Amino acid sequence: MMNENEKIFLSPKQVREAIRIDFKQYESQFDLFQELCPIITDNRNIVTKEGRNACVLITRGRKSKVRRMNDHDLGDYLFNILSEKTYPLSVIADICSKVFQTKTFVGLNDETGSTGIWIETEMARFKCRQCGNCCRNLKYHYDCTENDYKRWEVCERHDIMEKVMIVYSDSGTAEYRIWKEPGTSRFYPECPWLIPSPSKGQFACGIQDVKPAYCRQYPLTQKHAVMTGCKGTFEAC
Ligand code: SF4
Repeated sequence: MMNENEKIFLSPKQVREAIRIDFKQYESQFDLFQELCPIITDNRNIVTKEGRNACVLITRGRKSKVRRMNDHDLGDYLFNILSEKTYPLSVIADICSKVFQTKTFVGLNDETGSTGIWIETEMARFKCRQCGNCCRNLKYHYDCTENDYKRWEVCERHDIMEKVMIVYSDSGTAEYRIWKEPGTSRFYPECPWLIPSPSKGQFACGIQDVKPAYCRQYPLTQKHAVMTGCKGTFEAC
C-alpha cells in the first residue's frame, strides 16, 4: 500500500499507455481535457461545456466546425490524436504534468540509456492509513502481470497461483486476472488477502512480501490517491 518510488521513468510508449489509463479510469475530467485540447490539437480545437454532460468541440478556422460529445468520448478523441501524432518530448512532459498533476521532466534513464519522461510522484510524503479501501473497493482484476506470476512460481506460492485466472488473448498472449475463488471462474468480491488488524478499522495484507507490483506501488501519485478514494495522508515537506 506504500509506494516505493519517488520518481518514475516512462518511455514515450509507456507515457501513452499511462495517459490512456488515466483518461479511462476516472469519472469525469472535463477541466483536464479542456486544458489539454489546444495542446494536443496544436490549437486547432478548443472545447467548452454545454449543460452538465455535453462537451462542445470547436474546430477553429474559416469554416469552423462544432461537434457535441460526452466527457468519455472527448477523452477518446484526444487520446486518439495523441497516439497518432509525434510531439516533442518537452510537450509530452507538459502534457504529463497536467495529466498526473505533478512535476515532470525530460531525461535519460541510466539503466536503459533511453530518453523519456521522469514523473515525480511525491509519494515519499505519503502515509498509508491501512484503511483497506484500495483492497476492498477498487477494480484490481487486471492489475497482475506476468512478472508477478513468475515470482510466485519461483517461491512456489501455489496458494496464490490458484487464485489467478490465466486467459489467452487472440494473439496467444497470457493475461493474468486476480483474485478468483480456486476451482471456479468467480472473482472474490474484495481482496481475499486482506486481514483485519487489531486496531479497529485497519487492515493488513496477508501476502505483503510478495504482493503484486501494482499493489506495492498504489497509489501512484497524489492525484491517483485522491481520485480513487485513498484515505492516506501527504505529510508537509
Ligand atoms: S486506500 Fe490508501 S490509506 Fe487506505 S489502505 Fe489503501 S493505500 Fe492505505
